[in-house]
Amino acid sequence: MRDKIAIIGGGASGMLAAIIASRNGAGVTIYERMNRIGRKILATGNGRCNLTNINLKPDDLQYIHGNDIEFANHILKQFTVEETIIFFESLGIAHKVEEDGKVFPMSDQASSVSDVLRYELGKLGVEIICDTEIKKINKSGDRFKIIDNSGIEYFANRVIIATGGKSSPNLGSNGSGYKLAKQLGHSIIKPFPSLVQLRLEAPFLKAVKGVKFDGIASISADGHILKKEEGEILFTDYGISGPPILQLSRVAIEAIENNKQPMLEVDMFPNHSYERLLDLINLRFSYQYDGPLDFSFVGLINKRLIPIVLKESRIYDVNRICSEVSDKEIEQITKLLKCWRFKVIGSQSWMHSQVTAGGVNLKDICPNTLESKIVPDIYFAGELLDIDGDCGGFNLQWAWSSGYVAGTHASLSLYKGN
Ligand SMILES: Cc1cc2nc3c(=O)[nH]c(=O)nc-3n(C[C@H](O)[C@H](O)[C@H](O)COP(=O)(O)OP(=O)(O)OC[C@H]3O[C@@H](n4cnc5c(N)ncnc54)[C@H](O)[C@@H]3O)c2cc1C
Repeated sequence: MRDKIAIIGGGASGMLAAIIASRNGAGVTIYERMNRIGRKILATGNGRCNLTNINLKPDDLQYIHGNDIEFANHILKQFTVEETIIFFESLGIAHKVEEDGKVFPMSDQASSVSDVLRYELGKLGVEIICDTEIKKINKSGDRFKIIDNSGIEYFANRVIIATGGKSSPNLGSNGSGYKLAKQLGHSIIKPFPSLVQLRLEAPFLKAVKGVKFDGIASISADGHILKKEEGEILFTDYGISGPPILQLSRVAIEAIENNKQPMLEVDMFPNHSYERLLDLINLRFSYQYDGPLDFSFVGLINKRLIPIVLKESRIYDVNRICSEVSDKEIEQITKLLKCWRFKVIGSQSWMHSQVTAGGVNLKDICPNTLESKIVPDIYFAGELLDIDGDCGGFNLQWAWSSGYVAGTHASLSLYKGN
């Protein structure tokens, strides 16, 4: 009988680990709490699966976050973006590179990525046990006893824990991996949601819900700008959303976790300097000098924003005619449109977040093999670890690379000394 590797969690990292370990000759079983493996992959990239990003270069880790970025570098170098693309090409996924280095399957279907992984697992004879949530892992002699939610016991020589974080629990990752890691003596860096919409403190949100614009958003705390992003921004009834906001969410929530008050600043006219916008508004006012103040903004900004922008600029009498508006008031409006400040009071729930920041403390894990330093023969992979990435294919790359490393070293360790 082949020595067995148990993989807890059939997500991106668990499936990759299973393929590599099985190719190395190990007997592999995946335990998955959902009724099928790879559920989350189907939802990635808006159903297209942004599977990696060619801008992620070794030693350039601007897109990767966590308490030990060098740790992530060790892992990403062992299974690079190029190797990932070749791996998926070999399974049948022709790829294409889109804007900002994002890599997608040529089919534009996330299901094709999960299909080829499942097909390869089947070909290799990997056993897949679904509808099974692992609740406990105990060392039992030189093996591990793995106990599921029905009390059924399974045995394995090596265990790879690849249960994901807490984000989007409807897709399987319900945070149970942290409990397993803790039971085994590992410490956890407090998880918090990332790539998530932000909640703002503002009385008018319901009135502007659904208003979209192309702008620049930045997060600051303690008077310092922490991060800036550009793109389509969307007001919602709880706050703000859109790709730039998701990218900013990590620094905003991290600031709150550190008891700081993050502020969001929005520039609604990124292609106009302050002076140019001031000139433009003055020009519009001069054309419409006898027209109502609020009407002079029709065609410049979304109509639903006009009364709010004026009120937030401390201009309360909107029925005045343009010629009655002072230079100072025009400057106030221009300043608001270039730098609208909001207090960030939190984020949407785990259900809405795409990735979990924080996780299993990397101090407890070997940076070359992903083996636990606390319990030998236990390995970790994926989002469960204290590493996360920006939006754009970086999180799946971390899942593939860490799955590769855990699968490789768990399987090779079976033959050590034989
Ligand atoms: C909507 C959405 C879109 C995304 N789009 C992208 C994208 O386009 N590109 C990108 O790079 N990243 C994207 N991500 C992030 C990316 O999908 C994840 O970072 C990645 O899937 C993490 O892989 P993982 O294997 O660590 O965890 P997961 O994929 O979450 O898999 C963990 C698995 O473990 C199972 N499990 C959990 N606990 C147990 C247990 N106790 N016993 C048994 N099974 C268990 C879960 O059911 C799950 O199947 C997206 C995320 C979401 C939510």
